[in-house]
Amino acid sequence: MLETEYTLRRRAICAGFRDHKFDALIVSAPVNVRYLAGFTGSHAALVLEPDREAVLFTDPRYQIQASQETACRVRVVRGPLMPAVSRHLARRRLLHIGFENHRISLEEHQLLEKDLPLGASLEAAGSLIEQRRMIKSPAEIELIRRSMLTASRAFQAAIRRIRPGTTEAGLAAEIDHLMRRYGAEKPAFETIVASGPRSALPHASPGPVALGLNQLLLIDMGACQEGYASDMTRTLFLGRPTPRAKRMYHAVLEAQLAAIAAVRDGVATGEVDRAARRRLRADGLDQAFVHSTGHGLGLEIHEAPRLGRREKTLLRAGMVVTIEPGVYLEGFGGIRIEDTVAVTAAGCEILTPVSKEFTAL
Ligand code: ZN
Ligand code: ZN
Repeated sequence: MLETEYTLRRRAICAGFRDHKFDALIVSAPVNVRYLAGFTGSHAALVLEPDREAVLFTDPRYQIQASQETACRVRVVRGPLMPAVSRHLARRRLLHIGFENHRISLEEHQLLEKDLPLGASLEAAGSLIEQRRMIKSPAEIELIRRSMLTASRAFQAAIRRIRPGTTEAGLAAEIDHLMRRYGAEKPAFETIVASGPRSALPHASPGPVALGLNQLLLIDMGACQEGYASDMTRTLFLGRPTPRAKRMYHAVLEAQLAAIAAVRDGVATGEVDRAARRRLRADGLDQAFVHSTGHGLGLEIHEAPRLGRREKTLLRAGMVVTIEPGVYLEGFGGIRIEDTVAVTAAGCEILTPVSKEFTAL
């Protein structure tokens, strides 16, 4: 990511201070520090102030890394960071201090408050930065696309290696290994491989069970590459698909395509969710669709917006979201189809390049 992009992000956040009447903002969530300063360490606080260089506080473990990764001024602090942050704010005589109330521990809040000068106040800033992170820059979309390509390659190579006796856990390990070999830092979340009736558990953990013949096989996976997550699910059939499995698969695919067709700049996220549900209702399967249609992703695997039934957030060009309807029938199994898509003015671009035809292995 170019340094200018971080500078622009910090400037945009500071420009919003007037609405909130903040003199400064303390950013303490590592993912938000990374978004605004490029620093990838796990322990830092960033102080933003309009028209001044941002200051990044971290501990001695990160001294070298911070100087390499960020153009912000770096302060290395021994012990907890927050007392040093509040002494800095006091020296600057700043009074209205925004902080990430949903991302800070009670202890950090107390440490911060202790050294603040009289008259200064800590004010909840909420998810100010998460709101901005919803809209991705072209550079970010490119990174998500690359992460998705890595995951897709790993998926395709891994399913070719399925042999009699391959277990869920073995296949999940193979997928994770291939993602790293193809350029990912790590999986974006714990890879899900669930076969047969276990695929009816939307968040099944891969077990030591051998993949059985004439069963569904659900794989939900994603890479974390250059910090950016990708997410996809495909459901396959081991053996010759039964008519019931085929019918269910096509219902889910139609629902997924209906939801994708609804995606466009200006459409409410709830509308996309309802498009999927409406299609499943036609097949009597809407009761078996037990989660929301999708979620945003980027530096984190689950970000705003959520694509749920009652969500009102409007989709905007530049958002990257998943579209992942599924149906789950106890004793039979589950089918989910998930793509990562980038919202555009006229619709969306599907970033997951893997076929959605019902594949039998
Ligand atoms: Zn997924
Ligand atoms: Zn997902």
